[in-house]
Amino acid sequence: MNQKASINLLGLPRHRLEPFFAEQGEKAFRASQIMKWVHQHGITDFQKMTNLSRVLRNRLQDECEILVPSLLTEQRSADGTRKWVLRLSDDNAIETVFIPEAGRGTLCVSSQVGCALDCTFCSTARQGFNRNLSPAEIVAQLWYAQRVLIDHQQGPRVITNVVFMGMGEPLLNFENTVDAISLMMDDHAYGLGKRKVTVSTSGVIPAMDRLKDRIDVSLAVSLHAPNDELRDRLVPLNRKYPIKDLLAACKRFVRGKNRKHTITFEYVMLADVNDSQFHARALAKLLQDVPSKVNLIPFNPFPKTPYRRSEDSVIDRFAAVLQQRGITTITRRTRGGDIDAACGQLVGKVLDRSRRQRRFMRLERDVPVQNRPTP
Ligand code: SAH
Repeated sequence: MNQKASINLLGLPRHRLEPFFAEQGEKAFRASQIMKWVHQHGITDFQKMTNLSRVLRNRLQDECEILVPSLLTEQRSADGTRKWVLRLSDDNAIETVFIPEAGRGTLCVSSQVGCALDCTFCSTARQGFNRNLSPAEIVAQLWYAQRVLIDHQQGPRVITNVVFMGMGEPLLNFENTVDAISLMMDDHAYGLGKRKVTVSTSGVIPAMDRLKDRIDVSLAVSLHAPNDELRDRLVPLNRKYPIKDLLAACKRFVRGKNRKHTITFEYVMLADVNDSQFHARALAKLLQDVPSKVNLIPFNPFPKTPYRRSEDSVIDRFAAVLQQRGITTITRRTRGGDIDAACGQLVGKVLDRSRRQRRFMRLERDVPVQNRPTP
């Protein structure tokens, strides 16, 4: 790696690459050329970018770099799900999960190292928060997965969907998330359609409003409870942004969009906590005038959690109540549970944890951080 290298081109979307080349007296189409080399061909050596002039290649080599993550560990689930723990340049680590399904492949990416929110049923929360990922570090997950999967000859379009449902709250890392999505959707990079990239949020209302104005992307909202009293306990962010305001923001998000545009509401199924028929009816009522789909997520347990997963029959009955009231409801099949790759089980490795984490560690001395990779 070049010693002087500084600008990591991996994370620059078109709206940053074009001015970058303009400053160098280069034409705007250089941006497309670079994106194709890096993101479609996986080339990180400027000298191999043969449609650039030798002068430009040398200048890029002197001033820039294409820094990609390295692999710490890889795990494969019996169901085909794959989890990669990727090492960042500062030795933090993040997790990325690939979920193959018939006719599509979904990549679940992380947006932060750890998470600052404190959802009580999520194991990432126990890690505390370290820092935001850069646009390059977010896109790097897709870059990496694509390289690995293509190498295994699974075809160039093996990743059809990206969901921001790994570690972190993407809307608390707003600008970097938007830049990364912009690259994911660019035809000269990954060319994913707007319905194929989903940002999942705990409900950061001001950022939801900004997102709508910045980029056309699908939105999933982690609701998990039909009333504030319960949601305050499960998703503490609710105390700041309560349900009524959150649903109003959801309506603003879809306003003016195609009629088919819906918000996906995620609802983790916790036995005897939020999974009764009463909760289902209350949820249906809440969502009646929001264009919505509901995704029921069977709780994925982790050590020392007080919660239990709802029985399948309870989940089915809950789903039936919603369906009867006209709400499309899908129960998310747990994937990768045997490799701790399922929702809420991602922990990566977080260096220099935040004060909240230290507080947490004082409260609960020996919280085991499961599945921590050893570098
Ligand atoms: N911060 C974002 C992304 C988080 S993870 C958000 O809150 O939406 C994606 C989904 O997994 C969220 O809906 C989250 O609430 C859910 N989840 C977290 N922990 C879980 C667990 N242990 N079991 C099942 N789902 C969980």
